[in-house]
Amino acid sequence: AKESGRNNYQFYTADMNARASEILLVESQLRRALERDEFVLHYQPQVDMRSGRLVGVEALIRWQHPERGLVGPNQFIPIAEERGLIAAIGNWALREACRQNKAWQRAGLPAIEVAVNLSALQFHHQDIANFIAAQLAEFELDACHLCLEVTESIIMEDAESTVSTMSVLKQMGLRLAIDDFGTGYSSLSYLKRFKADKLKIDRSFVADVPGDSDDSAITRAVISLARNLNLQVIAEGVETAAQWQFLQSEGCDEVQGYLISRPLPAAELGLRLAAGEWL
Ligand code: C2E
Ligand code: CA
Ligand code: CA
Ligand code: CA
Repeated sequence: AKESGRNNYQFYTADMNARASEILLVESQLRRALERDEFVLHYQPQVDMRSGRLVGVEALIRWQHPERGLVGPNQFIPIAEERGLIAAIGNWALREACRQNKAWQRAGLPAIEVAVNLSALQFHHQDIANFIAAQLAEFELDACHLCLEVTESIIMEDAESTVSTMSVLKQMGLRLAIDDFGTGYSSLSYLKRFKADKLKIDRSFVADVPGDSDDSAITRAVISLARNLNLQVIAEGVETAAQWQFLQSEGCDEVQGYLISRPLPAAELGLRLAAGEWL
């Protein structure tokens, strides 16, 4: 028993060491990626359900890894958060989204809203309002063309300072969306205090509508809550016509998902907008 216990312990530490060295490897590669400019943003359309027209795009980060190819954010954002790199990476994304949005406008495309994901650490461990103001000024971008997607975890973490930062951001004219709505543990009372513009219904609820009656009830309730609070409501992860029909009949305002388009490289989105798609 003692013998096997020791073996288990050895396996356990071997696993932990493997995981720890994988994290260290990714961390050092992420630092290099920042220096060598290996990140890219893809943009996923968000359309109005009534008109079918594009209202905005969500900027989603990818890592163009020299050996591993295009790496999705779930593969590196959690490590970036754990290793203190998320502010640098997230700030890069915010800045790049502003630059790209202005470039589309300068190319003569209709002005759209670009939504950027903010990590809780990025929000709390720097003067985010100041950083954003500097980017808007540098790229001469109107604040109303930038939307910040924040999660319930941001809102929960440090309620007082969050309320004041949020109101500064609102006063600057930025748009605020609450991301992954319904997946956090916070009380709904924050909805009164945070003056968001939009609720995003999480993909995990949308996935099984209209077939699953629980998910349908939750989705219906979120849409009705948003409408009663005068918030716009957008469903993410919409893949099927049946989901679209359900959401439309329940009065959802906007949708985002593979049914409309996958996230696209900037150049491709620009071409499709120039061709009049979704307009
Ligand atoms: P999220 O903010 O919930 O983004 C939506 C995710 O759903 C994206 O995954 C998107 O590609 C995916 N998606 C969209 N439509 C569909 C659909 O119809 N079906 C399915 N199955 N998936 C769909 P992605 O791009 O892998 O991003 C994953 C997460 O990484 C994001 O979740 C967000 O939390 C995080 N993330 C992405 N970019 C950034 C960033 O710049 N900063 C930070 N802090 N986080 C980011
Ligand atoms: Ca998001
Ligand atoms: Ca989500
Ligand atoms: Ca998310």
